Amino acid sequence: KKLSTNELRRLFLHFFESKNHDIEASASLVPVNDDSLLWINSGVATLKKYFDGTEIPKNPKIVNSQKSIRTNDIENVGFTARHHTFFEMLGNFSIGEYFKKDSILYAWEFLTSEEWLNFDEDKLFVTIHPEDEESFKIWNEIIGLHPSKITRIEGNFWDIGEGPCGPNSEIFYDRGESYDFGEERSEMYPGGENERYLEIWNLVFSEFNHNSDHTYTPLPSKNIDTGMGLERLASVIQDVPTNFDTDVFIPIIQKVEDLSGKKYGVSEVDDVSFKVIGDHIRTVAFAIGDGALPSNEGRGYVLRRLIRRATRFGKELGIKQAFLSELVPIVKEVMNDYYPEIAASESFIKQVIHQEEERFLTTLDEGIKIYEDMRDNVKDTTKILSGAEAFKLYDTFGFPIEMTIEYAAEDGITVDIDGFNTEMKKQKDRARSSRKDSNSMNVQSATYSSIKDISVFTGYESVQSEGKLLY
Ligand code: ATP
Ligand code: MG
Ligand code: MG
Ligand code: MG
Repeated sequence: KKLSTNELRRLFLHFFESKNHDIEASASLVPVNDDSLLWINSGVATLKKYFDGTEIPKNPKIVNSQKSIRTNDIENVGFTARHHTFFEMLGNFSIGEYFKKDSILYAWEFLTSEEWLNFDEDKLFVTIHPEDEESFKIWNEIIGLHPSKITRIEGNFWDIGEGPCGPNSEIFYDRGESYDFGEERSEMYPGGENERYLEIWNLVFSEFNHNSDHTYTPLPSKNIDTGMGLERLASVIQDVPTNFDTDVFIPIIQKVEDLSGKKYGVSEVDDVSFKVIGDHIRTVAFAIGDGALPSNEGRGYVLRRLIRRATRFGKELGIKQAFLSELVPIVKEVMNDYYPEIAASESFIKQVIHQEEERFLTTLDEGIKIYEDMRDNVKDTTKILSGAEAFKLYDTFGFPIEMTIEYAAEDGITVDIDGFNTEMKKQKDRARSSRKDSNSMNVQSATYSSIKDISVFTGYESVQSEGKLLY
């Protein structure tokens, strides 16, 4: 079955509706009454209120398709087939009702039943937590999976510190030998390890409470929380090599082809640019639609950084003028079926993006020249761009520090991040009188160097850890 992404989303919601789940609309990307998160980054993030008992849902069985933003994946975007900064997470949830067995049976039925997705069972593999014998039994004895297709992985335990936690089980789709890129490719593509086995669905079984003394006790009522990336599912169903080749991205990429005069699918380097732009414009359009605005702090800084990054990649495709706002109508058309919010504030979204891009473009060329001079000076000597230089690029030419780091990395040069942060702090001290929150800048600029991909479930990724990704 070659379903469109819109059809797939509907099918998922209908499947769980037919299992007596209530459909809950996607919540805003900007967390409501939740200071622990910068962005909604998973389906469960908006349902915490039910999981912790703050609110009682009408129906303890819920299904949703939730807009999600994950900045921790930004370095993978365009390089792996499967990562975005903005994506839709399909999820089914049980607040104290069904547990492991039913959630596995539901997932299997949806994926393999002829009536639904009709996946070839041979293509599916799963992982479980090494000590989760119950899940092993269900996959092996009830579903009938051969033990060789059930891998035990230590990391399959979803734990965010105090609160509900438990083992999880991930479902992978074998895309076949042609996706076995081997080691060579892994080196070329930073996040792009072998993509033969594509993780499509994560089932989390929250059955313990992580107590304040770091002991674990069984929860009185056990919960199910699952998440499946819609774009990944679409890539499998539509039988295309990456998420970017599905029907949600192709129209955006085609518009970028028109604007740049370049073709997608011709050069690997250009393709990364097409993909990054296609990714970032969705993030930016939806985030602004949900009330975020570009600024120098927090969420706003993420937007600023994404817009500038997309502009930079547009430049690499040879686009000289501000162009990002022209992609907004395409995002609207593609997503309108389930998300009318882009249409509702289309002209505002376009205006914000356009202004931000124009502002950046006025200094970009000059900044690149200055950067190239700096680079030439250190290329044959220290190969280190000083903090003061990086700060000048930031302060005078609007280069987000990550952008400088990206440019430098391409030239085999590192950036003195500590030095940059020192300069940043000096400036902050100078401006202290006009600042309300004297700490916010610190949080953002402190620890770029500690970026790590968080490979386990990041359902409750905190502002703190996401703050590390901001610069
Ligand atoms: P991966 O290991 O591929 O990075 P993950 O284990 O970090 O994925 P989960 O936190 O388990 O992802 O999220 C649940 C599901 O959401 C994943 O199985 C995947 O289908 C989807 N997903 C997660 N991160 C992204 C992303 N950055 N872009 C697109 N889809 C994603
Ligand atoms: Mg996962
Ligand atoms: Mg994973
Ligand atoms: Mg991940």
